[in-house]
Amino acid sequence: MADELAREVMEYDVVIVGAGPAGLAAAIRLKQRNPEVSVAVLEKGSEVGAHILSGAVIDPSGLTALFPDWKAKGAPLETPASRDRFLMLGEQGAFDISWLPMPGYMKNHGCYVASLGNLCRWLAGEAEALGVEVYPGMAASELAFAEDGAVKGVVAGVFGIARDGSHKPDYQPGVELHARYTFLAEGARGSLAKVAQARFGLCDKAEPQKYGIGLKELWQVPAEKFQPGLVQHTFGWPLDDKTGGGSFLYHFGDRYVAVGFVVHLNYKNPFLSPYDEFQRFKHHPAIRAHLEGGRRVSYGARAISEGGWQSVPKLAFPGGALIGDDAGFLNVPRIKGSHNAIRSGVLAADAALAAIAEDRRGDELSAYQSAYEASDIARELRAVRNVKPLWSRFGTVLGVLLSGIDMWSTRLFGGFSPFGTLSHGMTDAAATGLAKDYQPIAYPKPDGVLSFDKLSSVFISNTNHDEDQPCHLKLKDPSIPIAVNLPRYGEPARLYCPAGVYEVVTDQAGAEPRFVINFQNCVHCKTCDIKDPSQNIVWTTPEGGGGPNYPNM
Ligand SMILES: Cc1cc2nc3c(=O)[nH]c(=O)nc-3n(C[C@H](O)[C@H](O)[C@H](O)COP(=O)(O)OP(=O)(O)OC[C@H]3O[C@@H](n4cnc5c(N)ncnc54)[C@H](O)[C@@H]3O)c2cc1C
Ligand code: SF4
Repeated sequence: MADELAREVMEYDVVIVGAGPAGLAAAIRLKQRNPEVSVAVLEKGSEVGAHILSGAVIDPSGLTALFPDWKAKGAPLETPASRDRFLMLGEQGAFDISWLPMPGYMKNHGCYVASLGNLCRWLAGEAEALGVEVYPGMAASELAFAEDGAVKGVVAGVFGIARDGSHKPDYQPGVELHARYTFLAEGARGSLAKVAQARFGLCDKAEPQKYGIGLKELWQVPAEKFQPGLVQHTFGWPLDDKTGGGSFLYHFGDRYVAVGFVVHLNYKNPFLSPYDEFQRFKHHPAIRAHLEGGRRVSYGARAISEGGWQSVPKLAFPGGALIGDDAGFLNVPRIKGSHNAIRSGVLAADAALAAIAEDRRGDELSAYQSAYEASDIARELRAVRNVKPLWSRFGTVLGVLLSGIDMWSTRLFGGFSPFGTLSHGMTDAAATGLAKDYQPIAYPKPDGVLSFDKLSSVFISNTNHDEDQPCHLKLKDPSIPIAVNLPRYGEPARLYCPAGVYEVVTDQAGAEPRFVINFQNCVHCKTCDIKDPSQNIVWTTPEGGGGPNYPNM
C-alpha cells in the first residue's frame, strides 16, 4: 500500500499502451485532429521498434489514411513488392503454384517490403513532432481502476524490485498514468488486454482467439542473390499435412532477406519444436539458394493472432479500448496486420476525440465499436473468415484448396460463403495431444552455417533482462510442469519456447526432475502464455527496457 501512496500520478486525455503501428497511429490521429489533446504512449522496449517483429510486406492503405503524403515525408517503405511466388514444398522439391488464380487482395502489387520496426521508429518521430509524449523503456504492468470499476489508466515504470521481492537501492514505485481513455495496443496476446477481457467479459460472445508462432531471421546476402521486392510464401515441408503453417521470404533494403516460418499453435504433437522446424526448413534447396553466402544479422519470434473475424472481442470497455492485434485484426491468408492495426488506431482515436469534445471520460466508446463494424477492417476479415477453420479441419493441401474456393466465393458473391461461418472450436492450448500418442522428433543438428542452436540465436536478438528481478513468467501452480505437464505432454514448454527459456533438468541420476525458467532469455513472443496445455504460465511485464533489441525487424 505504501508503494501505491508514493506513486506519482500523471493526467492525460488518452494513454496508449504499446508503440506499435496501432498505438502510434492512434496517437498521431489524436494530435492531428486536436493538438490540445494530451497523449502519452508507453513502450516496454528499450526504444520504439526494439520489440517489433514482423515480416513485413506492408499494405500502405493504413499509412495513407494517416499521412497521404507519407512518401514525401520519408516513411521507410523503400522496396516495392515486385514479384509474388507461392510454392508447395516437398522434402527436396517444390511445386510452384503461383499460377493459381487468387483474389486481387492476395497479390502484393502496390505493397512494400520493409522493416515494421523501422516504420514504427519513424512513426514515433512523427508523433513526437506533433506533441505526443512517447516513453520507451516503460512497461505498463497493471490497469488502474476507478471506484465505479472503469479503467482510469495504468501503472507503469516500476523498477528496482529484486528477485526475492525486496527493494533495491534504485527502487522506483512507478507512475500512475490516468486518462479519460486508455487504449491497449500491446499486439497479440497483450497482458493487460487479458485482464480487461476477463474483467469486462469482452470475449464472451467471440470464438476463442487462435494464434501462430512466427520465427524470423534477417540475412544480408551477396549482391548476385539479391532480388529486390521478391515476395515468396511456401506451404508444406517440413510440416506434415495436419500441422498448419508456412514460410515467408522477402528481399528488401540493403541486400536484406527476411526469412520466417509460422507454425499454427493448434498443433497436436507435443514433441514438435517450431524453432527446429524453422532451422531445418532453411536447408530446403528452394530456400538455401537465397541464403547461401549470406550472413545472419538478427533473429526473433512473436505470436500472431489468427482467429480473425469470429474471434474479435468486444472492442470498447468503460474507460478504454482494444486496438490493433490486441483485438486480433490480422488477416491470416494475407499474413498482414499492420495496415489494420493503423486503421483501428485511427477509428479509436476518432471515437475518443468525439467523446472528449463532449467532456466525457471513463465511459464506453461505443462509436469505436460501430465504426469497426462498418469499416474496411471488418469487411476484410469477414471475407477470409473461413480460411483458418478450413486449414484446421482439412489439413494443408485440401484446406488451401477449399480456402481458395471460399475466398473466391466471398469475393464474387458479396461475402457469401458456401461454408457459412465456420467455428474455430477449441483453444490452441486445448488442442495439444498427449505424449503417449506421439513419438519424439529427432531434429538434425544445426550446421552453424544455415541453421543454428537456440542460444546463439537468442544472442543475436540482443535480448537482455536484469537477472535480479522477479521472474516475469508466473506459474499459477509451480508443481504443474513436473507433476502434470511432464507425464502427460512431455512438458512441451521445452520445445515450443523459441528462446530456450524452459528446461527440465535432472541434477543427478535418480533425482527428481526440476523445471527451470531462464527468464532472462525471453523474447516476449507470448507463446507460453498461449500454448501451455495446463494454462498455468502467465506472461507478465518484466522491468521496462528488458527483452529483445531487434534491429530492422
Ligand atoms: C512473423 C510475423 C510476420 C508478419 N508479417 C506481416 C507482414 O508481412 N505484413 C503485415 O502487415 N503484418 C505482418 N505481421 C503482423 C504485424 O506485425 C502485426 O499485425 C502488427 O505488428 C500489429 O501491430 P500492433 O501495433 O497491434 O502490435 P505490435 O506491433 O505487436 O506492437 C505492440 C507494441 O506494444 C508494446 N507493448 C506490449 N505490451 C506492453 C506493455 N504492457 N507495456 C508497454 N508496452 C507494451 C510491445 O513492446 C510492442 O512494441 C506479422 C507478424 C509476425 C509475428
Ligand atoms: S518464455 Fe514464453 S514469451 Fe518468452 S520467449 Fe519463451 S515462449 Fe516466448
